[in-house]
Amino acid sequence: MVKPRVPFELNDIVEMKKAHPCGTNQWKIIRMGADIRIKCMGCSHSVMMPRSEFQKKIKRVIDHADE
Ligand SMILES: [Zn+2]
Repeated sequence: MVKPRVPFELNDIVEMKKAHPCGTNQWKIIRMGADIRIKCMGCSHSVMMPRSEFQKKIKRVIDHADE
């Protein structure tokens, strides 16, 4: 069974499978390309990772940017 991909867009607020050590599990997508950069909403720390890795680590989209 193929797991459906979570659709995401730039500026979306997402929840990851693992919370940031600061205790927050809300991240904003601030850059999209071959790599994805997300920023922790709690402490503003940002992390960059390959798109394939991000796709594995994302749990769900909390807020779509254009809603
Ligand atoms: Zn944090």
